[in-house]
Amino acid sequence: MIPSVLPTYNRAPFAFERGEGSWLITADGTRYLDLGAGIGVTALGHANPELVKALTAQAEKLWHTSNLYQIPNQQRLADLLVEHTFADTAFFTNSGTEAAELAIKMARKYWYEKGQPERVEIITFEGAFHGRSSAAIAAAGSEKMTKGFGPLLPGFVHLPFGDHEAVQKAVTDKTAAVLIEPIQGEGGIRPLPDACLKGLRDLCDSTGTLLILDEVQCGMGRTGRLFAHEWAGITPDIMMIAKGIGGGFPLGAVLATEEAASGMTAGTHGSTYGGNPLGCAVGARVMEIVADQAFLAEVSRKAALLRQRLEGLVAAHPDVFEGIRGQGLMLGLKCRLPNTDVVKAGYAEHILTVGAADNVVRVLPALNITEDEIAEAVARLDRAATTLVPA
Ligand SMILES: *Cc1c(COP(=O)(O)O)cnc(C)c1O
Repeated sequence: MIPSVLPTYNRAPFAFERGEGSWLITADGTRYLDLGAGIGVTALGHANPELVKALTAQAEKLWHTSNLYQIPNQQRLADLLVEHTFADTAFFTNSGTEAAELAIKMARKYWYEKGQPERVEIITFEGAFHGRSSAAIAAAGSEKMTKGFGPLLPGFVHLPFGDHEAVQKAVTDKTAAVLIEPIQGEGGIRPLPDACLKGLRDLCDSTGTLLILDEVQCGMGRTGRLFAHEWAGITPDIMMIAKGIGGGFPLGAVLATEEAASGMTAGTHGSTYGGNPLGCAVGARVMEIVADQAFLAEVSRKAALLRQRLEGLVAAHPDVFEGIRGQGLMLGLKCRLPNTDVVKAGYAEHILTVGAADNVVRVLPALNITEDEIAEAVARLDRAATTLVPA
């Protein structure tokens, strides 16, 4: 008999009742140290008092009005995003996949309005993940996500990740945009070298192609800069964000330059919930906290500490781990044993990590994880690794 919840997930056999910062607590009081943060979502930890305050204060006043009216919280969040990024304008969604939908629509509409309606192709990369809508799975293109769901939305050209020559050849007079994650998340914490991102920007500039960055997972402070592309010293034309921006409240956005957004006039796109007062109250508070340079410097400091300790872990367990990769607090442990075994061994030690493709275990803690928690996390991972390959 089919379960009452559609069985599309392989869930661990436990549930949590409460959260406190980097800790998740079951109904019987067992505390798990959370290095997954709901897949990079609870960027400021669970039940963060500042965010609880922002959410509850708004909840007592007004939840929903629709985008038929002005929404001051949405305006405030948009202003913050514009102030701190390359963007001139923002559209709010409830998720990353909805941001992908709009990013793709925006790029095609741009060329349509420019009088080049044949420029519809979007170049994407192997190992990419842009969400689970029909457009987002067509964009990523992997068989795992697309099989059985055809006919797929046409117009995507899939290339090997970071293969600059292939991109140069693939950009034609039919290309609307290049869509890429600066650091692939689901694909196994695969960072695109800064030089590649710069090269893509140059190529896009010389051909007029739009550069769309998917910073749903790597953005919002995770790498120690507000957005990951800042490390390469470039800016995109369009950027998708979600996950961390809501701190756990479902919220996403598409940010764009005035030029890239120029085709999106009144009536061309919409969302019932996107940009609602509750989500934007939380998102604005998250932005105020994360966009602060002192906060970002702390992320980098903790990241260096965590990475150094994890290097030690990898060195101590060469039969379990092959290496570490990633940037900031977006790290991946490449495993020699099946990554699912490593995640499970962590569960037994009450530490939560998240698997990814390419046999990687993801470490995506809350950005405000403490030094003591980092030490405790690595001690627990060490015990977990020891159970997998007894000395
Ligand atoms: C999670 C993710 C998405 C999809 O976001 P949803 O909120 O699950 O729709 C898109 N792109 C990247 C890079 C992601 O990590």
